Amino acid sequence: MNAMDQSEQRLLAQADIPFYAEQAGESTLFEHAFRQRLPVLIKGPTGCGKTRFVEHMAARLGRPLITVSCHDDLSAADLVGRHLIGDNGTVWADGPLARAVRTGAICYLDEVVEARKDTTVVLHPLADDRRVLPIERTGEQLVAPPGFMLVISYNPGYQNLLKSLKPSTRQRFIALTFGYPDPAVEQAIIEREAGVDAALASRLVQLATALRRLTDHDLEETASTRLLVMAARLVASGLPLPVACRAAIVDALTDDAETAAALDEVVSAVV
Ligand code: ADP
Repeated sequence: MNAMDQSEQRLLAQADIPFYAEQAGESTLFEHAFRQRLPVLIKGPTGCGKTRFVEHMAARLGRPLITVSCHDDLSAADLVGRHLIGDNGTVWADGPLARAVRTGAICYLDEVVEARKDTTVVLHPLADDRRVLPIERTGEQLVAPPGFMLVISYNPGYQNLLKSLKPSTRQRFIALTFGYPDPAVEQAIIEREAGVDAALASRLVQLATALRRLTDHDLEETASTRLLVMAARLVASGLPLPVACRAAIVDALTDDAETAAALDEVVSAVV
C-alpha cells in the first residue's frame, strides 16, 4: 500500500468514528480498561455525552456496539435470551448480552439501575475476572472473548435509595464520572453538532451556565448539552433563538408554569 492510500484510509477510518469531544482523559482510561478487560461504569446527568462517548470508543477500538436502554420491566431473560416457539418446535434466541459475549462486542447497558434486580445476577460473573455468562436454560456457559466489554451507565441525579447499584455490583466496575463539558468544549460541540457559528454557540453556553446556576426551582435536571444542541439545530433551521430556546430547553425541562416563567426570564436576559 502506498503512502497516499494509507492516509486516505486513515481519513476514512476517522470519518467512521462518531465525533466526541473529550472532557478529561476519559478515552485513555477507557482504552486501558478495555485492554485490561475491565468493565466500566459511567455516571452522569442525562444528555452529557455518555452514549456518544461509548459509540466513539467502540468505533475507535474497532468493536461492534450493542446498546440496551434499560427499563423497569427489563429482566435477565431479556438480556440473556429465551426459547421461542417456531414452526419447527422451540428455538433458542440469544438476547443482546449473549450476542455481545458470543461476538466479542461492547455491550452498553444504559440506565442500568432501571432494570429488574435479577439482571445483576447475570452481570456479576461477566463483570469480574471469570468473564463468563452462564445460560441456565440451555446449560451453556459462554466465555467472553478479549473483544467483549461490559459498559453500564446511570444517572445519580435520578436515583433514590431503592434504585441504586448494590456495592457488590458497583465494585466490579471502573467508574468514570461525567459532568457537563467546560464552556469552550461545550461551545465546540454545539458548533459541530448543529452546524452553527461560534457566536450562537457561545450564547447558548452562557444560557446554560445561567440556567445551571438556578437551584431554587423544583427541576429534576437542568439544561444538558443535548438540549443546547437541539435548540441550536432549530435556529440553524431558521427559527428565532427565543422560540428555539422555549421549545428545546424551557418546555423540555418543566411542566410547571411558574418554573417555566422563571426559566423564560433567564432566557430573555441572556439570548
Ligand atoms: P447521554 O447518553 O449522557 O444522555 P448523549 O451521549 O446521548 O448523552 O449526548 C446527547 C447529545 O449531546 C449527543 O447526541 C451530542 O450531540 C451531544 N454531546 C454531548 N456531549 C458531547 C461530547 N462530549 N462530544 C460530542 N457530542 C456531545
